[in-house]
Amino acid sequence: MERKSLDGESRALNAGGFRHPMERPLLGICIVGSVVLFAALLLVAFNSQTVLSFFREESIAAYRDESPEAADLSDEEIIALLPPETTELLARIESLNPVAILLGPLAVLLLTVWAMGREYGKLRANALRITARQFPQVYAMWASITRDLGMKKVPDLYTINGDGVLNAYAACVPGFRSFGALYSDILETCLRNEDWDSLKFILGHEAAHIRLGHVAWWYMLFKFVFTFPPFNYIIGLPLGRAQEYSCDKVGHAFAHDHDCKGLLMLTVGKHLYREIDFDAHMEETVERGGLWATLINLSSGHPILAWRVNAIRKGHNGGLFLRRK
Ligand SMILES: [Zn+2]
Repeated sequence: MERKSLDGESRALNAGGFRHPMERPLLGICIVGSVVLFAALLLVAFNSQTVLSFFREESIAAYRDESPEAADLSDEEIIALLPPETTELLARIESLNPVAILLGPLAVLLLTVWAMGREYGKLRANALRITARQFPQVYAMWASITRDLGMKKVPDLYTINGDGVLNAYAACVPGFRSFGALYSDILETCLRNEDWDSLKFILGHEAAHIRLGHVAWWYMLFKFVFTFPPFNYIIGLPLGRAQEYSCDKVGHAFAHDHDCKGLLMLTVGKHLYREIDFDAHMEETVERGGLWATLINLSSGHPILAWRVNAIRKGHNGGLFLRRK
């Protein structure tokens, strides 16, 4: 269903249509991987004595095969001679507790509630809530964007002193509420410059994180295991980069700003971003390549800013691992 936005344009955006094509497959790997890992741990925990005796016997037999002089030693004596990594593995299998594993997802969920609750608490304690009475123009824009994205309830929006840092984020306290936050320098810059395009882009990007479920408890639960090395480099971080590309596209659908000033502001700060020679910047950062920049991209949850700008500008799906011209 189409809605009449406050700026007069009639639109209703299907945010899912802006998803980066790799977002769903990577999330699918997270879901399947988490379920398989959980099931495997449970299986081992419920059969720990069987698994333990199997590994003990295998380890002892392997040691006897490799060390003929150990033929006369007892099993216990050989166990004492096994490499530390093997004894550590045996100790870990022995310590697996099925109840603790069953409670694992609940623990992650409670941890998420605690972490997100603290973020929300910081905003409630030290930030300014943007409402119909407080920066009404900004609130109207946020309300319009979130409604256009199909949200029935307008999420809270706050602005908080970032001490010069330019940033914005969205989050959700599971079972409680979703919210967005703008660091004050971003808001101040957009308002002083009457830069509505950048503001729409940033608000659209953050609203998209909420609409696409990136801040939902289940999304974070399934991602949890893949936020740790080495899985984060092949799954967790690329998924984060895909999410950013997805949200950039939604933000751009609201702003229609092909110069991507909302992202250039993050590149050179609040004063210089409107003076950038866009083509020279793209030529330098995208056309001419860059091994080291690619390495930075691989270890980051956000794609390189120039790649994000280029993906919007060219209307393609940005590269998750390698630069895409
Ligand atoms: Zn983002």
